Amino acid sequence: MEMHKKLGFGLMRLPMKDGEVDIPQTCRMVDRFLEEGFNYFDTAHGYIQGKSEKAVKAALSSRYPRESYILTNKLSGGFWSRQEDIEPLLNSQLEACGVAYFDYYLMHALDKTSYRRYLENGAFSEVLRLKEKGKVRHMGISFHDTAEVLDMILTEQPEIEIVQIQFNYRDYEDPDVQSGKCLEVCRKHGKPVLVMEPVRGGSLVDLPEAAQQLLSARRGGSLASYALRYCASFEGIVMILSGMSSTEQMEDNIVTMKEDNPLTEDEMKAIGQVVEILRNQNQIPCTRCEYCTERCPKNIPIPQLFKAVNRKREFRNADITWSLNNAVKERGKPSDCISCGLCERVCPQHIEIRSLLREIAENYQL
Ligand code: SF4
Ligand code: SF4
Repeated sequence: MEMHKKLGFGLMRLPMKDGEVDIPQTCRMVDRFLEEGFNYFDTAHGYIQGKSEKAVKAALSSRYPRESYILTNKLSGGFWSRQEDIEPLLNSQLEACGVAYFDYYLMHALDKTSYRRYLENGAFSEVLRLKEKGKVRHMGISFHDTAEVLDMILTEQPEIEIVQIQFNYRDYEDPDVQSGKCLEVCRKHGKPVLVMEPVRGGSLVDLPEAAQQLLSARRGGSLASYALRYCASFEGIVMILSGMSSTEQMEDNIVTMKEDNPLTEDEMKAIGQVVEILRNQNQIPCTRCEYCTERCPKNIPIPQLFKAVNRKREFRNADITWSLNNAVKERGKPSDCISCGLCERVCPQHIEIRSLLREIAENYQL
């Protein structure tokens, strides 16, 4: 079945009421979505602790004929360990969703390490077998790692039919996410691309004032609309997923994505300026050369801590507690710093490392 239009309904952040998915409202959203000619839905076993799949049944599969929508589900790492576990897991997902097959079944959140695990435990051959049985129409992956790793996976597994990547204007050139390069790799292998995180977990609708003004000085439209239209401007991208949790968000996305509406050259230029503004938000100019950590007697992960702080400076609402705690898990903490100054002597960027570490120690009790 063909995908109609490029907006997909991501079912990971549905409207909630008293800790449960608000089914009547989800039904209304599903109705509106289909009514406007969209037909792509995306869920996973773990979304909303299993409640997303049940909402699929209540709001979609029990109310619409199976051939009127495309449904994607995922083989998520935490729910299986051996090849024999996969078919029972898939069966339970089909049952929870109330369908006989999934249009796409994606190996969930692959990176270099998890790919090896999926491969060694027979996930690829098993999903191909389930495809032959008709329980899965197409096999794909969702992916979080570098373009080089993606290239390796797509070379080793030519049966992969579709790839889901994190793609948005802020991450296009990001050295960790590598949205742009990952898209190139998919194009090279002739794989259609599904986009996740087009508004980067909501951070691209939380722009600094100057960036907001740049966009609103154009044709108007919400900040989310620019983020979605940006993704829709690239060849090879067939679907953009948006985790819609309210009717307002959905209506805004529908207006944006009803017609093909790529960014104009002028709007693309403005997006480039927005990215510059985001990058330069009072950022610590750390290049992650690691000269400092080679010297530090306390083994403090200085560049990793600065990376997290930069994220916070870029996006006010970012929660970096997990990243900071993870960075110091087996390393020294900012409060372990003895102020010897060895790091600052070798830092080519002349960063005042000690005072920044004091700040982090105070602000995050680390
Ligand atoms: S000043 Fe602190 S962070 Fe720098 S090298 Fe010494 S102990 Fe490590
Ligand atoms: S030496 Fe300076 S630039 Fe290099 S990683 Fe350390 S803080 Fe960053």
